[in-house]
Amino acid sequence: MDRFDLVKESFEKKEVPAEIPSGKTSDYFGELVFGRKQMAKYLDADSLQALLACIEGGEHLDRKTADGVARGMKEWAMEHGVTHVTHWFQPLTDGTAEKHDSLIDYDGKGGVIETFDGKMLAQQEPDASSFPNGGIRATFEARGYTAWDPTSPVFILDDTLCIPTIFISYTGEALDYKTPLKRALKAVSDAAIPICKLFDPAVKKVYSYLGWEQEYFLVDEGLFAARTDLMITGRTLFGHISSKNQQLDDHYFGAIPPRVAAFMRDLEVAGHRLGIPLKTRHNEVAPNQFELAPIYGEANLANDQNQIVMNLMNRIARKHGFVVLLHEKPFDGVNGSGKHNNWSLGTDRGTQLLAPGKDAKGNLQFVTFFVNVLAAVQKHNALLKASIASATNAHRLGANEAPPAIVSAFLGRTMTEVLHKLLEVPSDTPIEIAGKKGKSLGLVEIPEIFVDNTDRNRTSPFAFTGNRFEFRAVGSSANCAGAMTTLNAAVAEQLIDFKAAVDAELATGKKLNVAVMDALKPIIRSVLDVVCFDGNGYTEEWKAEAARRGLDVETNVPKMFAEFTKPEAIEMFTKTGVYTEKELRARNEVKWETYTKKVQIESRVMVRMALNHIIPAALEYKSKLLQELALAKEVCGNLDGCATEMKFLSDINRYVEDVRVKAEAMREARKAANVIADDYERALAYREIAESFPALRRPIDKLEEVVDNKMWPLPKYRELLFIN
Ligand code: ADP
Ligand code: MG
Repeated sequence: MDRFDLVKESFEKKEVPAEIPSGKTSDYFGELVFGRKQMAKYLDADSLQALLACIEGGEHLDRKTADGVARGMKEWAMEHGVTHVTHWFQPLTDGTAEKHDSLIDYDGKGGVIETFDGKMLAQQEPDASSFPNGGIRATFEARGYTAWDPTSPVFILDDTLCIPTIFISYTGEALDYKTPLKRALKAVSDAAIPICKLFDPAVKKVYSYLGWEQEYFLVDEGLFAARTDLMITGRTLFGHISSKNQQLDDHYFGAIPPRVAAFMRDLEVAGHRLGIPLKTRHNEVAPNQFELAPIYGEANLANDQNQIVMNLMNRIARKHGFVVLLHEKPFDGVNGSGKHNNWSLGTDRGTQLLAPGKDAKGNLQFVTFFVNVLAAVQKHNALLKASIASATNAHRLGANEAPPAIVSAFLGRTMTEVLHKLLEVPSDTPIEIAGKKGKSLGLVEIPEIFVDNTDRNRTSPFAFTGNRFEFRAVGSSANCAGAMTTLNAAVAEQLIDFKAAVDAELATGKKLNVAVMDALKPIIRSVLDVVCFDGNGYTEEWKAEAARRGLDVETNVPKMFAEFTKPEAIEMFTKTGVYTEKELRARNEVKWETYTKKVQIESRVMVRMALNHIIPAALEYKSKLLQELALAKEVCGNLDGCATEMKFLSDINRYVEDVRVKAEAMREARKAANVIADDYERALAYREIAESFPALRRPIDKLEEVVDNKMWPLPKYRELLFIN
């Protein structure tokens, strides 16, 4: 099939109807997770109580109880046709990992029976030597194992019972994303509780919430398969931009095409059956770009759900003849994809800590948490950027479409004014809800609810949106845990320091509200001066200004990773118990290695495609031109009237030569980089190679403009982006 057949075929594809269960969403919501309803039905009273204590209070589950829980799970699972079980975990790769075991075992009578017990539920030892570990498992004793995370419910995918687990080495080092995230969530809760208790002594737990918004592209699978670069690297390495892309702003929130709508519907049903509260779906800015978001939830669970959804997207898209692109920058010239992480804190008493309270006390608590979050972001702005950095997200950061490569915070006019006002008034001035006491000078007022949509700044990587912060720099393909671990840990450290500052103020005999405000004031002054920025984050002036303010302006991804092993980072992560120094060092090795490999793979694909796809197509057209010229010479005796052919011929010669030279140079650069032994230095060398991609791409995209459309072998941007 040539390109035109593929285009025709994909254009003519009709939607495959979504399979929607009968009944209301609430009837089938959560039917494939072992949630509260299932627990109540399938567990005996003792197992149920022990499991709930384990989930809510972190109590240890003994072996006997675990057996009881496993028995109930098995019964439930087998009623749903389950034949296999797996520990489901999140190694330091791009996806999740699973190794399925059948439930069968010998029954001692020559047959088999289905077995599943507490031991299988609690722990597994996958042959873990092939997962990235940064040298942690190099020693003989350091095998890995997975251990059940009871706070995230067991779920069924097809015929398999999936048990969410952490993945750690026998010496206790985290080898995954979930373990440090759970540590960070505990750290932030532990650090926030004593501060909450100043305002409400009954608080026992603080939750960290995550509401992710997943952006993605859909491409027809036939066209996808014809592009080696998309298939192997998840993005196009060349492609002349389409004459029309997103300049008319006609895609964002536009009518959802039928084939896409059917896909979305199937995805939602699958998510809902797994208890994932998918809520929002819409077209995004770029053609064939879409977004999906659930109702926010507790961060560990929400992150697991995001991982499950990414997996579901891939499978369900194929049913509809699409491939999902989760890459941050699949196409040049149109927007890339991110995954906004909406983040907040709340107590077990139902108080949202990043939203205004009911009264002056509640408002002081809100301002306390609000300001301390900003302080944490300020202190660790470089680290937060490092937490979202990757080879793939590098294409998005700093481009004029996504957060700049500088982490600053956007507060909006209201909160900026509140903070300035707080610096002017005496420390015992109550912070009132606007309108409640009438307008009076000297009072500090905040609105009960923010009208956040009128006051948005899309150029800010960390924006306050009324009751939460939106960390916008996270990449679409990333595991949210990377960003959420760092953010929660940084906030935990700040809250610990702040509590000490308040205690020092209280020790001088000040009243609580005065002590809190006196401890807050120097922090408010500092965050307003440094990390808060309400202007356009894309301008050159901001880059200069940010550097002057001492914010990190580094754009080199391998260098960003080095932030994780700087003394302030090691201190913060060890003090909060989130990472040991050994883990931080190991993880950086993994990050550099992954970076190197990704660029290496892209570079190989690019060079091979240049030599095997692009140059041959260009030479075919060149040969056609030469034949025409020869014919002209033969018939007319001269080349008068052949100026166009001559011009194209010389363009092709020039571009082809340029492609060959650049491709060879890239190959040589790889050879030189490959012999560098140090992970960091090698990643830096590969970054240079990544920086040279546009130079090789340019003549190829020029050739696409010149070469006869019929001879061009790769689906073009206009086809990839507009067929759905
Ligand atoms: P946007 O207008 O930013 O695109 P969306 O509706 O697409 O908004 O997504 C907003 C996300 O923020 C949703 O997942 C929503 O549940 C989540 N969210 C709302 N309130 C909070 C909160 N307090 N904490 C965390 N996430 C929240
Ligand atoms: Mg959205």
